[in-house]
Parts: sequence; structure tokens; C-alpha cells
Amino acid sequence: MDGSREPDGDPIDLRALAKVDLHRHLEGALRLQTIIDLYREAGEPLEAETPEELAPTAQVLRPMRSLEEVLAYFRVARGAFRDYEAVERIAFEAVEDLARDHVRLAELRFSPDFLCRPFGLDWDRAMASIVAGTERATREHDVAVGLIAIVSRSYGLESAERTVAFALRHRDRLVGFDLADEERAYPPAMFADVLAPLADAGIPLTAHYGESAGPEFPRDAVEVLGARRLGHGVSVADDPAVTALVRERGVALEMCPTSNVRTNAVASIAEHPALRLLRAGVRVTINTDDPGLFGIDLTHELEVARDDLGFGLTELRAVTGHALAASFLDEDTKRRVRRSHFDWLARG
Ligand SMILES: [Zn+2]
Repeated sequence: MDGSREPDGDPIDLRALAKVDLHRHLEGALRLQTIIDLYREAGEPLEAETPEELAPTAQVLRPMRSLEEVLAYFRVARGAFRDYEAVERIAFEAVEDLARDHVRLAELRFSPDFLCRPFGLDWDRAMASIVAGTERATREHDVAVGLIAIVSRSYGLESAERTVAFALRHRDRLVGFDLADEERAYPPAMFADVLAPLADAGIPLTAHYGESAGPEFPRDAVEVLGARRLGHGVSVADDPAVTALVRERGVALEMCPTSNVRTNAVASIAEHPALRLLRAGVRVTINTDDPGLFGIDLTHELEVARDDLGFGLTELRAVTGHALAASFLDEDTKRRVRRSHFDWLARG
């Protein structure tokens, strides 16, 4: 039986369905037209004049050899974060795009250092612009949004320290904290001391691990850093002991199928472990990562889950329920959103 069909046999309209995205980078969520506009407004127009012309240099539309190769494609999008008005527009549109895809609860994450570095923007003023853009959008659209600050690991420990201080300063505006960027050279233990103040302040941690390195990286993220969620966590499936650890601790995996293929975290979509982990009792969730960079949305990722990963309606309900439960947004907001939009989790 195909569980992703309604009892009358019609396929579920995944676009119309209320959805949750826990893993979406602001710097990876730009519209191509917006990139073109912002370069043009700054008096440095790109050679590409249309989204179609820009796509080959600003998007990753086929599998690359490595995460590092994919990260290089952020160059064009980063060049759009030129001033605070640009940051506000990008944040506004990121939420508008969530609403258009019927995502009703989302967490948007950004690295202040990565975002501000190209044009020397002030981190706090950029934060004010992100807050202004997301708040303006959530007044117009029915989507609850939480913000997560990220350490870009390859910028080193001093940048990590500054990012922790930033998170503590903006404690009231953030729902969580993350580590991202290149993985293998930056094992979790390296960040244990610098992250310690976050736990004291009650700021929950998710961390990109198990994306381009083996299962000992997600294991240490959980055991050493106390991560409550893992960005991707693909290699969790490579070690039964790590799978058991993640299941027993209730750690949610923020999996992003298209991203995982294009960064070579999995050799092919057929080898993606999402269904296997879900059936093993792990709290798997399905997310976009970088919708602008990859030219996708969350509907697309659920279609991939249904068509390529073997998800039926039962599994789509499970990952959505896990995402709601694992979200770092406050419980009142989660309850309200669930009541308003997520009847479908209980139906049938
Ligand atoms: Zn990510």
C-alpha cells in the first residue's frame, strides 16, 4: 500500500500541507533575482542579467565531490549582503518563501561572521536587520520563525568566541546555536570550552556533524558538547552504537536529502539512510539546508523523501511530528502552531 496517498487514492498535495523546516541557512536562502537586484543597486551589476543566466555560478544543481566544493558556491550570494537594507530584504524574503511553501514553523540560521565579513558589516546592526526583516514578514504571513546563530568553524576559535558572546548578547532573539562549515579538521572537542557559556545560559545546541566525517564526530557532538540536534548526522547510520546513542538521547537529525547528495554526504539518493534511521527509532527530520543555493524548497524535499527514499504518509507524519517536537521555539508557540495547522498529523 502506498501510504502517501489519501484513502481515496489521490496523492497527497505536499505543497498545500503544513510543514516544518528546522534547518535552513539565511545565506543559502536568497532568490537569484534578489542577488541580481542587490548587485545592480550597489552599482556593481553582475554579468548575468536573469536568474537563468546566474544559476550556473550561484547554484549547485548537481552533485559535487565534497562539502568544501559546495561551500565555494556561496561566494555570489555572500556578495549580496552589502548593507543593512540588503540584509533586511533577504531576511524578509526568506520568510516570505517559507510562507509560500506552507512552512508554518521554521528556524532560520546564519553565521554573523560569514554574513558580515565580505562588507565589514557590524554584527549587531546586521542582527537588528535580520530581526526587522523576519518580524515584518511574520506580521504579513502565518509562519512562526526562530533564529539560530552559527559558528563558522574554519574561522577559528577567536571567531567562535565572538559568536558565543554575540549569542549571549542576543539571547532574547535567538532560539539556539549551531556549528557549521568544514567538519573533518574541526572535531567537537575543539569547541567544548568556548561553547560552555551557552549551556549555562540555557541556549540549546544543534551542530553540523556527520555530514562529511565519520560517526565519531556526531558521537562526540552529543557526548562532549551535549548537542540536542545534529545538522545532517548522516554518518550516525554507519555505527550501530552511535545510532543507539542518538536514539536513546532523543537527538533529532536535521537531514536534508538534496543537500546530502550534492555535498557527497551520501554517494546517491538511494543510499540515504533517513528511512532506515527513522525505522530504527531515531528522530529524523527532513529540511532544506540551502533552498536558494540548491534551487529547491521543502515541498521538493518531501517529494524526494516520498519518491526516492520510500516515505509513505506514516513517515511524512513522523518526520513532521519529530520536527515540531525538536524545534527550539518556545512550547506555547509550538502548541499554537500545531493546533492551527497540523491537524493532518492526527488525521486518518
Ligand atoms: Zn546546514
